[in-house]
Amino acid sequence: MAEGDIEQIFAEHINRESVFKNRDALSPHYVPQNLPYREEQVQELSKIVAPILSGRKPENVFIYGKTGAGKTVVTKYVLKKLAEFAERKNIPVRPIYINCRIHNTRSRVFVKIASELMPGENFLGLSTAYIYEKILARVKEENLRLIIVLDEIDKLKGISETVYALNRANDELERGSVSLIGISNVLTLKDSLDPRTKSTLLQHEMIFPPYNAEGLKRILEDRAREGFREGAVSQGAIALTAAYAARQSGDARYALQLLLRAGDVADEEGASVVTEKHVEKAKERVEEDIILEMIEALPEQEQILLLAVAKLTLSRKGQKTFGSDDVVLTSGEVYEAYAHLARELGKEPVSDRWFREYISELSMYGLLNVVQAGKGFRGNTRIIRLLFSPAKIVSVLERTLMA
Ligand code: ADP
Ligand code: MG
Repeated sequence: MAEGDIEQIFAEHINRESVFKNRDALSPHYVPQNLPYREEQVQELSKIVAPILSGRKPENVFIYGKTGAGKTVVTKYVLKKLAEFAERKNIPVRPIYINCRIHNTRSRVFVKIASELMPGENFLGLSTAYIYEKILARVKEENLRLIIVLDEIDKLKGISETVYALNRANDELERGSVSLIGISNVLTLKDSLDPRTKSTLLQHEMIFPPYNAEGLKRILEDRAREGFREGAVSQGAIALTAAYAARQSGDARYALQLLLRAGDVADEEGASVVTEKHVEKAKERVEEDIILEMIEALPEQEQILLLAVAKLTLSRKGQKTFGSDDVVLTSGEVYEAYAHLARELGKEPVSDRWFREYISELSMYGLLNVVQAGKGFRGNTRIIRLLFSPAKIVSVLERTLMA
C-alpha cells in the first residue's frame, strides 16, 4: 500500500461528519428537557411529593408499568426539579436514587444511603444496625427530608425488611423524615408483598401505560433534535423506529436505542441522513444488544456454563459432527468443559442435577437448542447446539467473569 493511500484513510477521519450533534442525548441515562406523553404522570408525582416543602412527610408511592414506559425518567425528572426548587428556598430536601439491581440487599441499600449522605466515609463491612443509626443521626442533625427511590425494587432481596426499616425511621425521628418511592416493571409484584409492606409502600399507586406509536414518534423527534444535527434524521426513519418499538410493547428505551444504532450505521456508511434503510440494519444489532445484556445479567454459574459451550463450539468450528455443518455437542462433553472452566475460575462446579436445570433455563432463553440423543448414545445424553454467536458470548463473558 502506498503512503498516499494510508494518508487518505487517515484524512477521511479528520473531517468526518457525523449525523450526531450530541450522541449522549440518546443514551438511557440522559434526562431530557421535556417528557412528552407523560405530562399527567409528572404532574401527579409532583403533587404527591410537594407537601415535603411545607415540612409534611409525603406519602409513599409505588410506580409500576412495563419496561421503557418512562417510570425511571419521570421520577428522576420530578425529583430533580423538586431538589432545585427546595435548594432555592433553602429547604433541606434530599432525594436519593437507588437501583436495586445493583444495591440488591437491605444492607447494600443502607450503605448506599449512608454514603450519599456522608460522602468520603467508608461503610463497607460495618453492621447494618450501626449504619442505620448513622443515617438517622444525620437526618436528625440536618433536619433532612429524604425521598428514597427504590428502582427495580423487585430485584431487592428482603423487600419487606428494607421498606419496614426505612419507614419505621419516621417514628424514631423528632426532626426530618424518610419517604419512599418504589418502582417496578413486574406487574404482579404487589400481589406478592405481605400485607404490611403493601399498605406501607402503596399509600399511592401509579400505573404507567405503555406508549403507542404516536407517543414514541414524539419522544423520538424531541430526542433527535437534541442528539442529531439538524435534518440528519428523515421522517421515515423516525416513523419506522416508532412502529418497531410500538410492537415491542411500546418500549421507549428500545426506540431510542434503535435510533442511536441507526445513527451509528449511517455514520459507518458515511451517509449524511439517517433513513429507513439504516433503521432496518440497526434492528439486528439492537436485538443482539438485548441478548448480550441478558447474558450479562445471568447468574454466574449459568454464565460459566454458557461460556464453556461457546468455547467448545468455537474450537469445533469447521468440523463436521454427526453429519451436520452446525457444531453440536453432547451433554457429557459440555459438563466436562463446564466443570473444568468453573475450577479454573475458582468456583465449585454444580452437580449434574443443577447442570440439567441450567441447561434447560438457557434453552428457555433461546440461547441453546437441546434435544434428547437417539440410539447409539449413553442413556441420558442430550445434544446441545448454541443458537447465538459464540465469539460474541466469549467476548462478553470473558470480560464479565474475569473482572
Ligand atoms: P422505565 O423505567 O419505565 O423502564 P425509562 O424511564 O428508563 O423507562 O425510559 C426508557 C428510555 O426512554 C429512557 O432513555 C428515557 O429517557 C426515555 N423516555 C421514556 N419516556 C420518555 C418521554 N416521555 N420523553 C422522553 N424520553 C422518554
Ligand atoms: Mg426503569
